[in-house]
Amino acid sequence: MSYVDEVIELVTKKNADQPEFLQAVKEVLESLRPVVDANEELYRKEAILERITEPDRQIMFRVPWVDDQGQVQVNRGFRVQFNNAIGPYKGGLRLHPSVNLGIIKFLGFEQIFKNSLTSLPIGGGKGGSDFDPKGKSDREIMAFCQSFMTELAKYIGADMDVPAGDIGTGAREIGYMFGQYKKIKGIYEGVLTGKGLSYGGSLARTEATGYGLLYLTQEMLKCNGMDMKDKIVCISGSGNVAIYATQKAQQLGAKVVTVSDSTGWVYDSEGIDVALLKEVKEVKRARLTEYAAARPSAEYHEGRGVWSITCDIALPCATQNELLLEDAKQLVENGCKAVAEGANMPTTLEATEYLQKNGVLFAPGKAANAGGVATSALEMSQNSERLSWSFEEVDSKLQGIMVNIFHNLDAAAKRYGKEGDYVAGANIAGFEKVVEAMMAQGVV
Ligand code: NDP
Repeated sequence: MSYVDEVIELVTKKNADQPEFLQAVKEVLESLRPVVDANEELYRKEAILERITEPDRQIMFRVPWVDDQGQVQVNRGFRVQFNNAIGPYKGGLRLHPSVNLGIIKFLGFEQIFKNSLTSLPIGGGKGGSDFDPKGKSDREIMAFCQSFMTELAKYIGADMDVPAGDIGTGAREIGYMFGQYKKIKGIYEGVLTGKGLSYGGSLARTEATGYGLLYLTQEMLKCNGMDMKDKIVCISGSGNVAIYATQKAQQLGAKVVTVSDSTGWVYDSEGIDVALLKEVKEVKRARLTEYAAARPSAEYHEGRGVWSITCDIALPCATQNELLLEDAKQLVENGCKAVAEGANMPTTLEATEYLQKNGVLFAPGKAANAGGVATSALEMSQNSERLSWSFEEVDSKLQGIMVNIFHNLDAAAKRYGKEGDYVAGANIAGFEKVVEAMMAQGVV
């Protein structure tokens, strides 16, 4: 049995109850076959694949807090510190009722390769809780965040582990967590990223993931003889990534016609009105029905359906496993030319393979959405030197990073005879750097 198959079998046995983690491990290891086969003896002796699929540590803890009725609530908190071969652990905190250890492990595992791809010195980690911020008052959010950080503070630090936002964790939550960390530790340091601008945040961090997604997509199109101008784009989600992806796509001359949330989706034939979308989602924290009610050109539909709309480019920006095989078939049938993942693992394995086999350019999330973590690393740099860079400076560094990521993964794919397979390219380019650092640092 090949080394890759052996490790997939081992990981499957050890983590049978974690389907998302297994999905991510299989996807990565399958695409690393050419590299692993070329170095099989050495990697096997060093147990590189066993080590890279086992987190350095997994922390789980109780998060008790009091709701507005005086009732004590208990949630479960997680931080998985996966691999710090190339820098301090870095990765977001997800607050969503679906969160469990397997989901945090899948995200932390992906983060290792994503962070490596940025060329910045950051290792892989992820955390969160099964707490649902929806419908909670500000006071309840603060009570949860303070309790969560009271425990998490023991395990993080500016040179150790620097969490950030993710689904359900925006500027408000990061602010409350930062305040509690400072209160407990008495240190003013860049321990979290995604902070407000008045206390160490970076300009352009809010926009970074969505903008970065478009910078990479644009480069991928350019290298394949196309561009964004006049393209019809379907986007899913209507959170941080989706909003700024929509904004940048429209700045680049495309027309974005859909957005969605967990209850429904909108088709807007005139193109999404970003200002209205921001008002509904960022200010009112309301449902998309409010967008549709305020916009005559928009239709609201319950449930899923974004990928049924004819488009040139599809950008899934909501959550994992939201673009299925049947959606991929529909996209191909409708003439879609490119899919780039704004969310983490939004496309299932079968859907990805179908798209690639049918000539659709496919940029995986670990490359395409790396702009968020890259800009978080730029926030860390600014905090370390106690300076703030201008929006233009950060944005131009972000553009450079995303273009560079695309060329790195393109080159890695070509090096192993997989030209145009950007999934393999991203995994290989991210993996090679981490493995080199792991080998140099010995068995630790
Ligand atoms: P937000 O919480 O701001 O938005 C998430 C969006 O996805 C919302 O529109 C939400 O709808 C929708 N959504 C969430 N869960 C589901 C579900 N189960 N089914 C359907 N829709 C769902 O998160 P972000 O925009 O920050 O993150 C989106 C994705 O991008 C995630 O996969 C995240 O890991 C990834 N990502 C984010 C980065 C960042 O910088 N923010 C960086 C890199 C990756 P509703 O409001 O109804 O819940």
